[in-house]
Amino acid sequence: MRIDIITLFPEMFPLVLENSIVGRARRRGHLQVCCHQLRDFSPDRRGRVDDTVFGGGKGMLLCAEPFARGLDALKEHLGYMPHTIYMSPRGRVLDQKRARELSAEPGLILLCGHYEGVDQRLLDEYGVEEISIGDFVLTGGELPAMILTDAVSRMLPGVLSEDVCFEEESHYNGLLEYPQYTRPEVWRGREVPPVLLSGHHGNIEKWRHEQSISVTKVNRPELYVLYMKNKH
Ligand code: SAM
Repeated sequence: MRIDIITLFPEMFPLVLENSIVGRARRRGHLQVCCHQLRDFSPDRRGRVDDTVFGGGKGMLLCAEPFARGLDALKEHLGYMPHTIYMSPRGRVLDQKRARELSAEPGLILLCGHYEGVDQRLLDEYGVEEISIGDFVLTGGELPAMILTDAVSRMLPGVLSEDVCFEEESHYNGLLEYPQYTRPEVWRGREVPPVLLSGHHGNIEKWRHEQSISVTKVNRPELYVLYMKNKH
């Protein structure tokens, strides 16, 4: 999969995208990430990309044209138009299901906003999907783009080794993950639940499932209600 990111701050990305699982996925050829400087697509000789907001209001808005030129250039270079996403606090909040769906795309383009955001006409013209990473406002779309890249890339076939399979992780089946333990068996007087040391796989599976349900019920009651509704 190839992910192209258009941003005012491409230098923010290498540290995150060269390390850990995403870095390994890139080195092994499962994932290609290309960051592009928005200013390079500016029609303005000085690389200006923002302007004041019509109707008044504080702050500056990113203009449609530099992003549009970037999208057109990528379309021409790639020979097709990848699904395009604007990282936006106004968008639908990213979840595991959407991350998984996006991992089936051959490529993605992520647009990082800044200041007050971007001219609406860009989103309308290119049918851009808006995705949020949570109900809070960040300074720019760079961190959200890194988060989306991480969430999507770990679902690509071959990226995770079998022992870190995402199918047992939180949110995969609508539940949160059960508690987990490692050595020592007793730590500061706290014991590992005996069932986990029993070697009885059926009982362990049952215990984990029950734990998943109760963690979900306490931490995320709305997910628990949804899970119970879908189950019946
Ligand atoms: N004026 C915008 C609003 O109220 O919706 C917020 C703009 S924010 C300061 C600047 C940029 O950060 C946004 O254009 C977006 O790209 C990014 N951003 C901020 N919060 C985000 C979030 N929760 N999810 C995804 N992107 C976000």
